[in-house]
Amino acid sequence: MSLRGVRKSYGRTEVVKGVDLEVAAGEFIVVLGPSGCGKSTLLRIVAGLEDASAGEILIGGRAVGHLPPRRREVAMVFQNYALYPHLTVAGNIGYPLRIARAPKAEIAARVAEAARIVSLEAYLDRKPSQLSGGQRQRVAMARAIIRQPRLFLFDEPLSNLDAKLRVQMRAEIKQLHQRLGVTSVFVTHDQVEAMTLADRIVVMNTGVVEQVGRPTEVYRRP
Ligand code: ADP
Ligand code: ADP
Repeated sequence: MSLRGVRKSYGRTEVVKGVDLEVAAGEFIVVLGPSGCGKSTLLRIVAGLEDASAGEILIGGRAVGHLPPRRREVAMVFQNYALYPHLTVAGNIGYPLRIARAPKAEIAARVAEAARIVSLEAYLDRKPSQLSGGQRQRVAMARAIIRQPRLFLFDEPLSNLDAKLRVQMRAEIKQLHQRLGVTSVFVTHDQVEAMTLADRIVVMNTGVVEQVGRPTEVYRRP
């Protein structure tokens, strides 16, 4: 994934001010920065949920700026899980395939496989309201996995979880990445999260990239 001179303005306010970034295939990138610095906007631009004001986005070497989200081969996991409350776990996980009109048997098989990866096989008939926060986030991850994306985008996915669960889910995301090897961009304001997850950390501040490097390179004592 590459970003070249990506900018975004809302009215007269520029919130992403020319971001360049090269992410290698299979890499786990964490974008670390304070609240309001433009991390989420940047991620939404990559996903196609928001248009850039300027610049280029390449995924797998292909310019995707003009493509709708479903054509970008990305899957995003949100802080608030964004599950459909009226659908079961299976319905939520299989939703992207249902929208794409995949055959029922294929949906069933791929839902089962994705549920197994996130250890939710026993919960397929439940509704999101009957799940813990960690389980809800696993549903969101399974729904991302089922899209078989080239790129996972995580928007502060652990911020609503308590400290203990956050540590556990962090480990699960790390394992998932090691297992599937999908290029990942993970946005957070949490330095510990960045240090434990990242191959490289992108330090962002007020719309610009301040530093890019391995966790040991960018870590600064307060
Ligand atoms: P972060 O994810 O780092 O917390 P955001 O990308 O959410 O930051 O927001 C960056 C800035 O852009 C903030 O000042 C925010 O208020 C502003 N912003 C985000 N979305 C919009 C919008 N739809 N309209 C106007 N301003 C927005
Ligand atoms: P559709 O427009 O095909 O009915 P949705 O309403 O589910 O699909 O979502 C709107 C667009 O956002 C679609 O193009 C869909 O592929 C995309 N989309 C939905 N969820 C995600 C996600 N988690 N990550 C990336 N793209 C998504």
